[in-house]
Amino acid sequence: MHDPTPLDEIDQFAEEADVIILGYGIAGACAALEARRAGGDVLVVERTSGAGGASALSSGIFYLGGGTEVQKAANYKDTPDNMYRSMIASMGPGQADLIRRYCDGNVKHFEWLEAQGIPFERSYYPDKTVFLNGTQGLMWSGNEKVWPFRDAATPAPRGHQVAMEGDASGAAAMEALVARCNEAGVRTIFDTTATSLIIDESGKVCGVTVRQFGERRHLHANRAVIVATGGYGRNEKMLARYFPGLPDTAEPMGVPHTDGSGINMAAEAGGDVRGMDGLIATASIYPPPQLVKGIIVNSRGRRFVAEDAYHGRTASFIMEQPDQRAFLIVDSEIFAYPEIVGANHSLVDGYETTGEMELGLGLPPGSLAHTLETYNAQAALGRDPLFEKHADWLKPLTSAPWAAFDISFNRSTYYYITLGGLRIGPDARVQRRDGKFVEGLYAAGACTAHLSPDGKSYASGMSLGPGSFFGRIAGREAMSTPD
Ligand SMILES: Cc1cc2nc3c(=O)[nH]c(=O)nc-3n(C[C@H](O)[C@H](O)[C@H](O)COP(=O)(O)OP(=O)(O)OC[C@H]3O[C@@H](n4cnc5c(N)ncnc54)[C@H](O)[C@@H]3O)c2cc1C
Repeated sequence: MHDPTPLDEIDQFAEEADVIILGYGIAGACAALEARRAGGDVLVVERTSGAGGASALSSGIFYLGGGTEVQKAANYKDTPDNMYRSMIASMGPGQADLIRRYCDGNVKHFEWLEAQGIPFERSYYPDKTVFLNGTQGLMWSGNEKVWPFRDAATPAPRGHQVAMEGDASGAAAMEALVARCNEAGVRTIFDTTATSLIIDESGKVCGVTVRQFGERRHLHANRAVIVATGGYGRNEKMLARYFPGLPDTAEPMGVPHTDGSGINMAAEAGGDVRGMDGLIATASIYPPPQLVKGIIVNSRGRRFVAEDAYHGRTASFIMEQPDQRAFLIVDSEIFAYPEIVGANHSLVDGYETTGEMELGLGLPPGSLAHTLETYNAQAALGRDPLFEKHADWLKPLTSAPWAAFDISFNRSTYYYITLGGLRIGPDARVQRRDGKFVEGLYAAGACTAHLSPDGKSYASGMSLGPGSFFGRIAGREAMSTPD
């Protein structure tokens, strides 16, 4: 369906531009602005009736650091090297070249985002949370304070939230970027779906075939095409192929058009993909933060993750447990209901003894009693030798009655985004399997492999941050491609 269209089969082009960008979310908007400011005639092709994509629905958290003004205002020291060490420790060296470029360019990138009119407050939210309803500019949004990552680099908060009330601050970022695109003279065609790339006899991408109101049209790109069409969380076939264990209870996040079409088009034109089985899922147990003081056990009554981990990391470990089952156990001192009601973590029951709890949860006799006894003894000393949960979250769970929430991957509602995608180099060019590049083709955003390969290493903001950063690079580099 996404087979490339050979150039010599085309009689007539409906439009032409120096750079054609597919998708008008954050990656597309940033690419468009930079290409236009580099002097290009830029055309954005968007299948819906307006700009925004998943970016406009998002919580507006950008993972940024290295010593931004917001970090400084909150008295946190961070440097590009420190950020790099932190990211490599959690995300691994697979995309070290992209991570290096990202960290080195972060402070300037933050300044650029602000200069476009995206508001970031000089204020800080210290508690553990998933997103903010307020306008604070800085939050902890990943595993920076979680072992072993806290030993690899000095922990620093890097979640930079756009200042807008409510949990969808991404809209304010898109509003500013689209306004700048309009002022700069970026051209757009809406209600138009890109269906395949056009390649010449040498394999260079030189345009795109689209469907517009039922008609097939061809658009010529004098210099390059940039794919910025988002992820594949809504593509049933791709989900079945890459995530066979995904239960029906899991819900994709994003817009209906995150169907992987850009990835498939670029792959058909020679682009390679990486990390397609990567997924970040969330049904966070926190807020309230006090629940992190509880323990999470599997159907054997054993702990398997540090409960203070970033929610996506916890979810990834839960996915790997027998039958994907897990329970959050709390005592009466810290009892509270998880605040994110959409996660549907149901209270199983309250119990006067651990024996009753084992019976009620179907755990092997004595298993939970043993886990609690060991955990409580160490927690009383401020230690967790098994998983190194931070001392801030350690407290013996000794105040009966206890309560258990069912947080199983296949019973609660876990919301996910896909993390795999096109393989790009640090200059946002799409790579072939042999390491060479597809001439005339760039990509950025959620249609490319995220810097974090999986939910264990993801941090909130790792989509908008790198998507905007590499989108800008794609725009500039596309204009440096000879016409
Ligand atoms: C509720 C929610 C909260 C989130 N919060 C955060 C957060 O705080 N921080 C963070 O980093 N990430 C967050 N994410 C994830 C993040 O929003 C996305 O991964 C990111 O916005 C992707 O940006 P993008 O520009 O690559 O794609 P998108 O913003 O999805 O834009 C892609 C565009 O391409 C268009 N398109 C698709 N196919 C075609 C085609 N064939 N032809 C033409 N157009 C096409 C789509 O219609 C869409 O407009 C959140 C996601 C959701 C849903």
